[in-house]
Amino acid sequence: MSVITIKDKRFSASISAETIQKEVKRVADEINRDFAGKEPLFLSVLNGAFMFSADLMKHITIPCEISFVKLASYQGVTSTGRIKEVFGLNEDLTDRVVIILEDIVDTGQTMQHLLESLGARHPKEIHIATLLLKPDKLKVALNVEYVAMNIPNDFIVGYGLDYDGMGRNYPEIYTICDSDES
Ligand code: 5GP
Ligand code: MG
Repeated sequence: MSVITIKDKRFSASISAETIQKEVKRVADEINRDFAGKEPLFLSVLNGAFMFSADLMKHITIPCEISFVKLASYQGVTSTGRIKEVFGLNEDLTDRVVIILEDIVDTGQTMQHLLESLGARHPKEIHIATLLLKPDKLKVALNVEYVAMNIPNDFIVGYGLDYDGMGRNYPEIYTICDSDES
């Protein structure tokens, strides 16, 4: 197994590029089937979802649009964690069928905030597609309809996901070796 070092942490390869591509293609096929005739608007959540979004979109064959949003946490804290605000959304969501593209759903709090924020813009439907889901960490009730891969609770990097800004460039996914993180 190949091991990489990013800053002070070691990570070992856990999901191959080939497996990722296969599962991303499967999700694209499901979306093509389920959204034919609906002209969905994909909303890719930067930075983490950039690679997933690019690879997925190459397999989307139905008429669609894509746009990109960024979530920035700001100082306030609520009972469900840090408040995140949506930036960069210029599209009118009124009566649109929206498919959120995320890199990873962990506790689900980020996704819950995003759903609330987008829901206020009167879309017709909102669906969630995520590259990764940690099912054992999910804390809120979410209907995550499209999941490329379920993974254990350990911290991962690669394929768009970072450790302290680094490691997004790898075509495969790596899991942290020293699991002293909370
Ligand atoms: P949630 O709000 O679902 O708990 O957290 C989602 C966000 O936490 C993700 O968008 C991502 O930025 C970060 N995150 C959660 N788990 C991991 C992980 O294993 N690796 C990396 N790089 N980021 C993670
Ligand atoms: Mg994310």
